[in-house]
Amino acid sequence: MRLLIVEDETKTGDYLKQGLSEAGFQVSLTRNGLDGHHFAMTESFDVIILDVMLPDVSGWRILESLREANNDTPVLFLSARDSVDDRVKGLELGADDYLVKPFAFSEVLARVRTLIRRGGAQKVEDTFKVADLEMSIPQRRVTRAGKRILLSNKEFSLLELLLRREGEVLPRSLIASQVWDMNFDSDTNVIDVAIRRLRGKIDDEFGLKLIHTVRGMGYKLEVETDES
Ligand code: CA
Repeated sequence: MRLLIVEDETKTGDYLKQGLSEAGFQVSLTRNGLDGHHFAMTESFDVIILDVMLPDVSGWRILESLREANNDTPVLFLSARDSVDDRVKGLELGADDYLVKPFAFSEVLARVRTLIRRGGAQKVEDTFKVADLEMSIPQRRVTRAGKRILLSNKEFSLLELLLRREGEVLPRSLIASQVWDMNFDSDTNVIDVAIRRLRGKIDDEFGLKLIHTVRGMGYKLEVETDES
């Protein structure tokens, strides 16, 4: 999944690029409208994230060019402006969604995924099965050995992240940024507590453990083959 971000604010651009890359997207970031316009018109992306106010070519102009060229790549606008007029203008020009700054990273991620799903690309997985653990994102349903498991919102997001990145060791800092919108591991205890709760629900009463602690590194979810 390829994303283009056009954002002139260094901090916001970097933050988005890092978060979305960690979420598994291939991200191109440009910091001005001219390059953004060029990339948007000449390369193919699954979603384009456009800041409205750019120093040279505005986000609106880029969107206009895209739609004039019959390019219907989903566009998510990011804007510090929040007047109804701006929102209406963006949507009239053919933006698919509109997010007002400041925003939570989880919100951006959710919108991007929705746009991709709606766009029919269907490449972002939304159901997972590892051993007898099954998760359906659209139905918000988790079962193990066919038995329904009820999770809190955070536990659900945490399990989704572990499943999306099955077999990978996820550092606490990554879990913090993806599930709690925290920039770095100021309070990793929160994560350990959540992991413990999640284990209590999906692992404790089953012989085969799926969530593993990787000492000094983080957590991963996988079916471990015997190493001893
Ligand atoms: Ca800007």
